Amino acid sequence: MPKPPPTPSPTDLAFINRQLRQRLTSLTREASHNEEVLKRFHDRELTLLATESLPQLLSCLVDGMKASFDLPNIQLVLHDPDHELRHLLLHSGIEPEGLADIRFVDEIASFSPKHARYRAPWLGPFRNPEHAILFPTDDTLKSIAILPMIRRGQLVGFIGLGSHDPNRFTRQHASDFLNRLATISAICLENTANREHLVISGLTDALTGLHNRRYLERRLEEEVTRALRYQHPLSCLFIDADHFKQINDRHGHGAGDSVLRELALRVKECLRLSDIATRYGGEEFTLLLPQTDATEAAKLAERIRSRIQHKPIAIHGGGYVEVTVSIGVSALPPGSSRENPQQRAKHLIEAADKALYTAKESGRNRVQLANPDSLSGRALESIELND
Ligand code: GH3
Ligand code: MG
Ligand code: MG
Repeated sequence: MPKPPPTPSPTDLAFINRQLRQRLTSLTREASHNEEVLKRFHDRELTLLATESLPQLLSCLVDGMKASFDLPNIQLVLHDPDHELRHLLLHSGIEPEGLADIRFVDEIASFSPKHARYRAPWLGPFRNPEHAILFPTDDTLKSIAILPMIRRGQLVGFIGLGSHDPNRFTRQHASDFLNRLATISAICLENTANREHLVISGLTDALTGLHNRRYLERRLEEEVTRALRYQHPLSCLFIDADHFKQINDRHGHGAGDSVLRELALRVKECLRLSDIATRYGGEEFTLLLPQTDATEAAKLAERIRSRIQHKPIAIHGGGYVEVTVSIGVSALPPGSSRENPQQRAKHLIEAADKALYTAKESGRNRVQLANPDSLSGRALESIELND
């Protein structure tokens, strides 16, 4: 018969008990630490998913992560072969080259052939110069995590996390959370870029790159409200190419398109940053001119008209065509009115359109003011249009 195990003495029991207690305390501490880490990751993921624009997403990836993970250095390398991300940023008025800690690369394989093979997070000691390509701004880092961002099996970038603590990122650390964070970041990046494309294409005219009519409708009421609140003048120009149909008929649709693009360029060259230029439709353009009264607007209209008339436009397929435009000018009447901003915006547009019609009726290639009365009785002819 096997001997029964010896009964532990009370001192043994106390020892075992102490050991168990210590183990329990350490497990509880680890569990609460894990819970806290999980919560931090979870919060970060939710913030990433809630971002609405590319600049916001990038700032959330770099600055947001620095703050929530208490890290001194976060680097982002983004694969941008067609300069799509860079163009979207430029469109939001952000200079991509000026973004600290973010680099856009045409090809990851030539940027860093070694890292281009990564498919899972790498955690370990920072080694200069091997890691300097990913962390160019700080050579005093002690440990790093390199998180490849994978989307549909393709490497679309890296998130680099850098710490001055040698034990912050080691090979022994689990990397599942980090991997998940990188995957979510890659998805957010793709979704945000797609969404921005949609917004831009929804409000931009593809042929000329000007804003489209939908954009004007959004901005118009805003500008009228602002002009009324601050008692600033606001003017509107309606520009329409004369006999444009003949250009299409004689030279083809491609030639017509080149003319429209050139017209948009010449109009833009005459504008200030705050002016809002839209392609209203077909061969019609609208300008909204904040802080510009009717006299100034008429002068600008004349400059645009003359700039277009005086230089024939090169067309698709070779040759030149002479093009002229007619322009209707209206201005928000000063002072208060019983109309709300929406009605006043509508009347501003209608008045410019009506003036344009008069310009066409009176022989084309001319500028017509909507209500010359608003210019203290001075008719357009009497205004010195050329500065
Ligand atoms: P008017 O002096 O009275 O303004 O005469 P018009 O010929 O300029 O005006 P009309 O409205 O008769 O013709 C405008 C033409 O513009 C008809 C349309 O086919 C053409 N058009 C509209 N959008 C485009 C475009 O995107 N590209 C080209 N090539 N033509 C366009
Ligand atoms: Mg027209
Ligand atoms: Mg026309």
